[in-house]
Amino acid sequence: MTSRSPTPGPITYVKVACHCGLNELRAGFATDQLPISNDLCHCNTCRHSSGQLAVYHVSVSTLVCVDSDEPFHVDGHGGECPSPDGDGDLVAYRTSENAIRYFCSMCSAHLIFRYLGTPREEGEGGEREGAFWCVAAGALERTEGIVKVGYHIWVEDTLDGGLADHFRTLEGEDLPRYRRGPKSDEIALRWRSETLNQTPNSTNDDTLHISCHCQSNQYKITRPNFESYLPYSAYPDLLHPHDIAHLSKVRNSADVKWWLRPLGSSHPTKYFAGHCTCEYCRKTSGFEIQSWAYVPRSNILDQEGNSVVLQPPEKDEVAEMREELARIGVEGSGEGEKKVEAEPEDPRPKGLKQYISSPGRYREFCRTCGATVFAWQIGRPDLLCIAVGLVDESQAGARAESWFEWCYTRVGYAEQAISPKMVEALTSSLAAAGAEATKSREEENERAPIVSMSLQQKGGCDVVTSVEQVVVAA
Ligand SMILES: [Zn+2]
Ligand SMILES: [Zn+2]
Ligand SMILES: [Zn+2]
Ligand SMILES: [Zn+2]
Repeated sequence: MTSRSPTPGPITYVKVACHCGLNELRAGFATDQLPISNDLCHCNTCRHSSGQLAVYHVSVSTLVCVDSDEPFHVDGHGGECPSPDGDGDLVAYRTSENAIRYFCSMCSAHLIFRYLGTPREEGEGGEREGAFWCVAAGALERTEGIVKVGYHIWVEDTLDGGLADHFRTLEGEDLPRYRRGPKSDEIALRWRSETLNQTPNSTNDDTLHISCHCQSNQYKITRPNFESYLPYSAYPDLLHPHDIAHLSKVRNSADVKWWLRPLGSSHPTKYFAGHCTCEYCRKTSGFEIQSWAYVPRSNILDQEGNSVVLQPPEKDEVAEMREELARIGVEGSGEGEKKVEAEPEDPRPKGLKQYISSPGRYREFCRTCGATVFAWQIGRPDLLCIAVGLVDESQAGARAESWFEWCYTRVGYAEQAISPKMVEALTSSLAAAGAEATKSREEENERAPIVSMSLQQKGGCDVVTSVEQVVVAA
């Protein structure tokens, strides 16, 4: 615990909590060092162990219990079960020899990152130096005056700039984009790795792989096909802000298949994607920005090539009642009811754990590494949100723009964000990225003119109204 004993001087405490409330503690920061300018990490380990496009940790000088000044204990073994000796109910996941991440066993919020230090000598148990503790910034009760994004690190791992291209400045200041750790070489805006440029649209272009860090969850996304049109879904907040849009609008009574992109195309090849800053996303992940892609369940395949199943099979209540009646010897309760059927095997993926964040809203996360994998709702069980951080960056880059069309006009539930300044920064960077995307599309169109004018888009997701008109008129 020496690594996080309070530094001399006044300490500012901020409560840290996950969505379900199983884990609560307080993070102590040296008051004279506030606000802390911190990194957004884009490395492969951070993305795949969280499901986020970038991870936002902030180092603390101490961690104490929520109701006393006693140190907050976590189990230090880095095993894969809830910490038996810890104060909370955290699962430890060791992402490398030098680091352990702790997430809530119930709601999966990543709360604590522990850097064990670099070994001074070979072998386990040897002395280490430079150990520190961090908390996930999205789990803090407040961030204003405590922490702010100062720069991007490990941008190189994304192969396409990842979230750094969608989050360029903060309060008017450019955020440096370091290739690797802090103060390493900087990477230019709109950078793409040579490895991606060498293999445009070649191998594996018909499926996009997603996987969590521990690999217990691995799926393949397929390109839109006729089944992709089958789900019905109301509009997401990204397209019609739920706090101000009329319910009649949000309801999508024209049944527009808004998740298929380009919108209105007779041959969609992509899915809609966007960033969310809602309270559910923040408190169940521990991070302020959750990036989702909307993909029909039928286009998400497991290792055996079957569409992923997240709902257990519906109970046949009549059959169960007949069985029960037959068991207690009531006659005429059906035929052949004596034979007891074996329990059908739960078709849900073994690596996933489900958390009900509110009635009818489900989040699915890796039970081993804690990565957010899917989110879905009872009203649209066949259209899932996929955590974009799990995308195999080697295929199309971390943003996978050959698969996803990003929403450039809005951040989902922006009004719920804990840091309005961050949402403002994200929104203006997205607008710039959207303008660039429109420009490059126009340049492409000049080279190959589009026949149908009705399908031309002015960037991102603000074209729904015009497409609805097309649909209604058709
Ligand atoms: Zn929790
Ligand atoms: Zn990282
Ligand atoms: Zn995992
Ligand atoms: Zn959300």
